[in-house]
Amino acid sequence: MDFKLCAIASGSSGNCTFLQAGEQMFLIDIGISGKKVTEGLGELGIDPKEVHGIFVTHEHIDHIKGVGIFSRKYDTPIYATQKAWDKMLGANMIGNVKEHNIRPICKEEPLHLEALRIFPYTIYHDAVDPVGYSFEYKAKKITIATDIGVIDERIKENLRGSHGILLEFNHDIHMLEAGSYPFHLKKRILSDVGHLNNEAAAEVLRDIYHEGMQWAILGHLSKDNNVPDLAYLTAKMALEEKNIIVDRDIKVSVAKRDRVSEIHFI
Ligand SMILES: [Zn+2]
Ligand SMILES: [Zn+2]
Repeated sequence: MDFKLCAIASGSSGNCTFLQAGEQMFLIDIGISGKKVTEGLGELGIDPKEVHGIFVTHEHIDHIKGVGIFSRKYDTPIYATQKAWDKMLGANMIGNVKEHNIRPICKEEPLHLEALRIFPYTIYHDAVDPVGYSFEYKAKKITIATDIGVIDERIKENLRGSHGILLEFNHDIHMLEAGSYPFHLKKRILSDVGHLNNEAAAEVLRDIYHEGMQWAILGHLSKDNNVPDLAYLTAKMALEEKNIIVDRDIKVSVAKRDRVSEIHFI
């Protein structure tokens, strides 16, 4: 086992992903309460003190709600871009963070923690400086790609070669359009700096699929504008168009909204 990944929570009500590379353990975002993340880690048999760091994708509340609490309690370093730090600290979004746990990172520049290479890549989303992350360890690659309005060739390049991916399947366009959200919110979600819809995400998955890709987790589903089966079927059908058969060539699962999902290994 090189990598272990598990979504502790995924969706607009809160995101938190556990990632282990060799002996090193991390969390990507904590958009849930300190209590919930500790419980989630407990279910995985992980002592929160063992978490080496938290990687923040962007400063929306569904990604940072519990970041400060966790860091204060367990003395955990937080990695985020300088602009995200300025916003989080300037607007007092996560409370006080100990100086030594403030770890600014640069977009499009790899960071190395022992044998693990972390690459924060630029994404399109209405936050100050949002990033996705790819993690490479022992020639294996895992990518986190959520909260992305649109995926262009440059982003696709960052996703290619992934052995496992957590990819946003936020909404079904028809459900969103027909739903009860106010117009401005619909417009925001559908925009190029909003969220990725099922069809667009499924196309991306089909495009970046390669034989080494073992699994895809569909995540950050909208509670009101999507259903897990619809996201799953959209992905399955898109893959089948290219004769990529789910359960034979790739494992596809949907991350659970507010419970710990199954653990994925590479
Ligand atoms: Zn967001
Ligand atoms: Zn989000």
